[in-house]
Amino acid sequence: MNSPVNLFGLDRRTMTEFFTGIDEKPFRTSQVLKWIYQHGVIDFSEMTNLSLALRDKLSSIASLELPEIVSNQVSTDGTYKWLLRLESGSCIETVFIPEKDRGTLCVSSQVGCPLDCSFCSTGKQGFDRNLDVAEIIAQVWIATKALGYYKDKSKRISNIVLMGMGEPLLNYDNVSGALNLMLDDWAYGLSRKRVTLSTAGVVPGIRKLAADVNVSLAISLHAPTDELRNVLVPLNRKYPVRELMTAIRDYCRQKPGETVTFEYVMLDGINDSEQFARTLAKLLDDIPAKVNLIPFNPFPGTEYRRSKPEAIDSFREILLNAGIITITRKTRGDDIDAACGQLAGKVIPRARRHRENLSTGTL
Ligand code: SAH
Repeated sequence: MNSPVNLFGLDRRTMTEFFTGIDEKPFRTSQVLKWIYQHGVIDFSEMTNLSLALRDKLSSIASLELPEIVSNQVSTDGTYKWLLRLESGSCIETVFIPEKDRGTLCVSSQVGCPLDCSFCSTGKQGFDRNLDVAEIIAQVWIATKALGYYKDKSKRISNIVLMGMGEPLLNYDNVSGALNLMLDDWAYGLSRKRVTLSTAGVVPGIRKLAADVNVSLAISLHAPTDELRNVLVPLNRKYPVRELMTAIRDYCRQKPGETVTFEYVMLDGINDSEQFARTLAKLLDDIPAKVNLIPFNPFPGTEYRRSKPEAIDSFREILLNAGIITITRKTRGDDIDAACGQLAGKVIPRARRHRENLSTGTL
């Protein structure tokens, strides 16, 4: 017998293909998507607007599989962090940040990260693999359920940011499948302004995104010159600042009215001088840009320190005076290591797993 098809994570198109492939009407897709994502039901027998025969059929040929929740921590400031275990044994993290007028979920796209930015603890864990669509959207489902939305519709995740572990544009197909479900009215139905993809600057991915997915874009810039950015974000050696800015300008041309967010981690004595602020202002001069200054969040073994509050303030002043909307991001959840750059999960990097498996003979 064939193993059951996991319907969790199929988007409108792929689920419709599944239903037509088993001689069912395409409208089953909207029914099943609504059950799973709007009502939180992952047991076919409870999908009461499907005929009993179809419910039985689905139970025998399909499944709805989600990662296991290992732990759920809550910070003193109300931030939640979930640790989820995947089939491979690796773990990923997902964070929910409640604010007065909204609640933002920070979602991971890869197990670990291959980019190895020098100030980010996720990169230090190494890289295992891309998450599939089910594993990405499961983070939204698990958080939605845990926050009580399926019982009380006011407990809503209002915004999603792909700013957890990993580089989303190096996992393009799975990320865009998951984005489809975040935006789809039959699933989470979020407006595209409330879903943000953050990238360290994968230029071909930015160009592709401009053409086929409609979400908000954030760029992890962190330095306005190649010399410094090569050190902080090694991906810059492949896609230098000038090439990145050209791709962003083209992106903005294709999406009139769109503002791009630039993230800039504030590292004491490294990238926080007034000179860098002026260079940054010049770099962003002809782009509809907004800047988020992120005070550095330390982690064990790092050589960096957080910029002094005065340095952050004067950096911000210079950008504001140049007419660029600039905010300093408040650090949230750092007591449970849920702040930006502190997500570590439990990554079993490929090379190490291979070695361990060889030594235990389980390969
Ligand atoms: N790879 C993508 C998605 C990760 S987003 C990207 O780079 O955009 C995570 C954000 O937190 C990025 O802006 C990242 O640069 C920032 N960050 C990473 N480590 C940090 C740290 N230790 N302190 C503060 N911000 C950090």
